[in-house]
Amino acid sequence: MTKKKQQKKRKTPNRTCIACRKVKPKTDLIRCTLQDGKPVVDCEGRLGGRGANLCPTKECLIAAIEKGAFNRVWKTGFKEEDLESLKRDFVACLEKRKFRKGAKSLVYRVKASEVEGAVGKNLTRKLDK
Ligand SMILES: [Zn+2]
Repeated sequence: MTKKKQQKKRKTPNRTCIACRKVKPKTDLIRCTLQDGKPVVDCEGRLGGRGANLCPTKECLIAAIEKGAFNRVWKTGFKEEDLESLKRDFVACLEKRKFRKGAKSLVYRVKASEVEGAVGKNLTRKLDK
């Protein structure tokens, strides 16, 4: 059994997702923290405070909110309604990360003429009635 599991490079510390409890390298998780009593997404990993780590998926974010996982980490140091803005930050952070990693983003290439044509047809149809 000589599986080379350890990478030669610097070891990234592991963190546990507060929703699904999966242990992953810190960099694979999105860190949320409290800033002045407001839950924020620490997208750049620069903020202090008590961190709550999540998988970069909406599912884990929703699960964490539903399970009250944030309450476990932050106790009552935040307002539940502020989790709404956390959700938005989280989604924005997901987009940013995707972009940075160079993952294929979904781009639909549609010719302007095609769109114009379709719109024009619909318009004409409407006008005919
Ligand atoms: Zn998770």
